[in-house]
Amino acid sequence: MSYYICASLKTLHWKYLFVPLVLVATLAQAQVESAVELMEDSASWVMQEPHIGGMTEDEEEVETTLFNEASSGLFLATVYDSLTHIPAYDMYCGWDTKNLFASKNAMESVGDGVDFRLCYSDCDFHYPAEGDMTSPFGPRWGRMHKGLDIDLESGDQVKAAFEGMVRISQNHSTYGNVIVVRHNNGLETLYAHLSQRDVKPGDHVEAGQVIGLGGNTGRSYGAHLHFEVRYMGEPIDPNYLVDPSKKSLRDWEFTLNKKHLETPTIDPKAIEARGAKKYYSVRKGDTLSAIARKNKTTVDKLCKLNKMKKSSTLRPGQKLRVK
Ligand SMILES: [Zn+2]
Repeated sequence: MSYYICASLKTLHWKYLFVPLVLVATLAQAQVESAVELMEDSASWVMQEPHIGGMTEDEEEVETTLFNEASSGLFLATVYDSLTHIPAYDMYCGWDTKNLFASKNAMESVGDGVDFRLCYSDCDFHYPAEGDMTSPFGPRWGRMHKGLDIDLESGDQVKAAFEGMVRISQNHSTYGNVIVVRHNNGLETLYAHLSQRDVKPGDHVEAGQVIGLGGNTGRSYGAHLHFEVRYMGEPIDPNYLVDPSKKSLRDWEFTLNKKHLETPTIDPKAIEARGAKKYYSVRKGDTLSAIARKNKTTVDKLCKLNKMKKSSTLRPGQKLRVK
């Protein structure tokens, strides 16, 4: 259904949508219907595909994922408003402020490649945090690490990489305090494990604008920024776009191909080993050597596992990987 709406949007002239839109709107005066629902009804009417009985599975999905109350602050009364105000609304056929990722078939929509204009001038991009990269995109500990990790201290500023509109600002069990920004070209960037979120869905942000403060929330062991770039919900290695050593864009343009979306295979041995991971919560007065002794390991191994130095300060409550 969603592709069908997209197709309708592109091929139908507005005058054919306008009349049914008004009619449906009048019939539904008692209810506040979302623009997307109106669009669905209108589009199917125009295309002479009547709604009979309940919703199909596809329609249910559209209903739950496209539109919700957070959009009301944007004064989106019609589909045209949404198309005008929301970045890449036509590409995604919607604006979901609850679910982190769209469930579109990115592979299919990439076709022979999609060109993204990333930048029009130097200030159109800002590296999201000051620190160095501590972990790249790719298989890690038997899982796919779908972003890159940037070192920071809790409370350090986290900045939007590009201009865009905040789509997600929520507390998530894995990502912790997380913000997702949709950009005009259709790419989305994600900022996770924050200690503080300073923006809400619908907020317009500029490249380099502070959107929150770094932290150690969600499934995170040690303060860092987990930064992702996604297209249609699919993760792309940020390294294709950004040079982490220079903290700058590689190029002002980026062509996304299927090869960018192919997930590397994960070594089954690594998946097995994942179960053997163990963590320790630092107590007051603990030292690295005491923790190493208690957990039958060495200080060197602890430092390596936790990407820390022997001289690093330990904080009570801090989670250290010991195995
Ligand atoms: Zn990460």
